[in-house]
Amino acid sequence: MTDSAGAAFLGHLGEVLAGIRAEGLWKTEHAIEGPQGTWVTLAGRRMLNLCANNYIGLADDPRLVAAAGAAMAEAGYGMASVRFICGTHVLHRQLEARLAGFLGMEDAILFAACFDANGAVFEPLLGAEDAVVSDSLNHASLIDGIRLSKARRYRYANGDMADLEAQLRAARAEGARHVLVATDGVFSMDGHFAPLADIRRLADAHGALVLVDDCHATGFVGERGAGTPSRAGVRVDILTGTLGKALGGALGGYVAGPRVVVDLLRQRGRPYLFSNALPPAVVAAGLAALDIVEGADDLRARLFENARHWRAGLEGLGFRLSPGEHPIVPVMLGDAGLAQRMAAALGERGVHVAGFFFPVVPKGQARIRTQMNARLTRGDLDFALAAFAGAGKELGVI
Ligand SMILES: *Cc1c(COP(=O)(O)O)cnc(C)c1O
Repeated sequence: MTDSAGAAFLGHLGEVLAGIRAEGLWKTEHAIEGPQGTWVTLAGRRMLNLCANNYIGLADDPRLVAAAGAAMAEAGYGMASVRFICGTHVLHRQLEARLAGFLGMEDAILFAACFDANGAVFEPLLGAEDAVVSDSLNHASLIDGIRLSKARRYRYANGDMADLEAQLRAARAEGARHVLVATDGVFSMDGHFAPLADIRRLADAHGALVLVDDCHATGFVGERGAGTPSRAGVRVDILTGTLGKALGGALGGYVAGPRVVVDLLRQRGRPYLFSNALPPAVVAAGLAALDIVEGADDLRARLFENARHWRAGLEGLGFRLSPGEHPIVPVMLGDAGLAQRMAAALGERGVHVAGFFFPVVPKGQARIRTQMNARLTRGDLDFALAAFAGAGKELGVI
């Protein structure tokens, strides 16, 4: 790169950044001191945290910390290899078998993150003769994973079953060999459940398979926390998910499904073949998380009870919510700048939340996405409601 080419390039990037700022879309990080938890310390100040994916409060659970510490003491820090060379520890196979059993699938394969699991899953399974039919609000990682495959792509409007059927018919009419419907189990920006029973029925009627990304459900939705298929009472063909949310909140993703699917991903999944194995400490803590999750009906009940109380409280104050029952409770504000000011006003009142705006939600649909946690007490929620009342009045939202 010559000096002038370099200067032009960096100047261009600076203009892009200035545009992001000018549109009010700038995101800032707020560094937490100490552990992630229901209350966190930010810049020396204790704040109630309403924006973590810490649904049943395992992120700082002493049992996970102990499991990770013990595994690190015994197995060391890193694997220094991808899985198929010398990066597979017995713990990896234990967690894969355990996840498969927990999810009611034949086998499972771990990835560094669900972003990688979704990046891996489509390309080896589907060729140019095949088709993927995808919900329009699917997570970015599903969209990217689908793009990496050669399959023909069909998109249906979010949760719109008439449109899903039309796209399935179109895929069949255009001669697709295998058809796979891909959906989030829960749409993370709205907290809406995908209509899995209807999706399963339409997929069956058109000879299609169903893949569900259950990141915002595994561990706390459905029987024993088995996720949205369990809640809907249906079987799906392939599940993807994360250890980075309810299952401890560290990192790691997986694909669970028929053994041949998992076998082929071990042979051909690029993020599996070309990226490092998860560290043993994380894998051991994942096993400890499943031990807790399988017996956590009390935590799941409290989580959904908190969600009901929180939704009713916010609606009582006059806020407009995205309706539903999921512990993701979005407070709809519309304007990105307003969402940022609301987050700041709540921060001043001791409540840590983040404004969500383009590109993570469509323009004009900015919001504060709050999330419940089983360990929030009534006192915590009352404190948060008082903060929302004060901030909402100050900014003229209510
Ligand atoms: C969080 C999330 C992911 C990414 O999971 P990571 O393990 O953090 O990479 C993928 N899909 C959905 C629906 C998610 O909510």
